[in-house]
Amino acid sequence: MSTKPLAQHEIWFVPGSHALYGDSALAQVDIDAREIAGALDQAEEIPVRVLAKPVVISSEAIRRVCAEANDAEACVGVVVWMHTFSPAKTWIAGLSALAKPLLHLHTQFRAELPWSEIDMDYMNLHQSAHGDREFGFIATRMGLARKTVVGHWGAEATRLRIGAWARAACGWREAQQLSVARFGDNMRHVAVTEGDKVAAEMQLGVAVNGYGVGDLVAAVSAVSDTEIDALIGEYEAAYELVPSLRADGERRDSLREAARIEGGLRAFLSAGGFGAFTDTFEDLHGLAQLPGIAAQRLMADGFGFAGEGDWKTAALVRILKVMATGLPGGTSFMEDYTYDLSSDEPLVLGAHMLEICPSIAAERPRCEIHPLSIGGREDPVRLVFDAAPGPAIVVAMLDLGDRFRLLVNEIDTVVAPQPLPKLPVARALWKPKPDFETAAEAWLAAGGPHHTVFSAALDAETITDFATIAGLECLLIDADTRIRDFRNELRWNHAYYRLAQGF
Ligand code: MN
Repeated sequence: MSTKPLAQHEIWFVPGSHALYGDSALAQVDIDAREIAGALDQAEEIPVRVLAKPVVISSEAIRRVCAEANDAEACVGVVVWMHTFSPAKTWIAGLSALAKPLLHLHTQFRAELPWSEIDMDYMNLHQSAHGDREFGFIATRMGLARKTVVGHWGAEATRLRIGAWARAACGWREAQQLSVARFGDNMRHVAVTEGDKVAAEMQLGVAVNGYGVGDLVAAVSAVSDTEIDALIGEYEAAYELVPSLRADGERRDSLREAARIEGGLRAFLSAGGFGAFTDTFEDLHGLAQLPGIAAQRLMADGFGFAGEGDWKTAALVRILKVMATGLPGGTSFMEDYTYDLSSDEPLVLGAHMLEICPSIAAERPRCEIHPLSIGGREDPVRLVFDAAPGPAIVVAMLDLGDRFRLLVNEIDTVVAPQPLPKLPVARALWKPKPDFETAAEAWLAAGGPHHTVFSAALDAETITDFATIAGLECLLIDADTRIRDFRNELRWNHAYYRLAQGF
């Protein structure tokens, strides 16, 4: 039995060759390819199953394996590798039909060149250097989006890069079937959380539909006392409850109300098959509290969430949580809130009104109740904690009107230099790369929003792989970013994406 975290998904390993070399060479290609696929299947760096496919040499066989990959529910992507030369016109029909993510693995069966033994038979059999160039040409000539990974298949670095792509492919699969429930509309007058939902479904597959808050209120009202008792039991086991929320506390009823909201949300989301949701504090009619602990715990269980009607970020939270399955470190909805500019290395304090996922917590969260200064409802219950220190990324998606843009900033989450005893919300404190001034200037120049997905589990490579698969523009702000180059990248991308859209 496989212990792979995304074992329900598989990638297909398809080796290419040529009839020219004879049956014994082809048999050897098949044996070698199965050994590579088997090793990748065992590799812990790759979170999905790797399925060996028979060596393909004809246009018809390649077209057929690509069509089978399209139809196979479990297949999230196809890895191709040329053991020998493989004339690339035989790949045109198959690649034209392939609708699954593509990775071109440029490896070689043997790592070492057999200096004293090498002859022309060896040269003919082990010519990935040659055959993969022919493949790269046709893929580029056809304009195919793909990831190219170079390195010996036994090397950890090679496997990590294949693993990142496999995670991105699982995220893409999730996007294709993701349904986002939007309770209420957008926060009034806010621009960046808006966007083209039809375009999102066409490009990403993500379906975003609105529901009246009254529909949610009906589900909340239907939650039984027994269900509430069970949820309260979970809260008491997992969190440090402040005295007022404990069994004899004066705010115990508020905790029960928060649990009722969680129960209603869970019932609504599971009945509708939703993987993500949004709400807005401006439209809570009939709900006693803005969902705080409910949104936090649903995120911890893998649901996407974002506030103020921000369906793009809610969808992204869900997609990134799927990609991060099994990795250490959490993934959460996040918002750039305030800064500490007092030192040479300024800090960003990220938080939200309530809704930060406890998967990123450094310690056991405290369960607290405080007033919310906006929204006009009863005091909401929330989990309060600090994010664990370490490397992370923040990722955002914005709608430029003619396209979606992904934006990624590599950051280092740090321990707060001082306690924050009066801040009643979960938070993360970080230093952005390459430095605060460059990162913030680049983010603003790119039109980056205040809402993001924070992930201590994923790296930028996985996000850029996802962007390649989805055909999304992706801008990376990392240790190598220089503002002058970044501004040029924005200009060039603008021209490229306008041209690439055609008429
Ligand atoms: Mn917000």
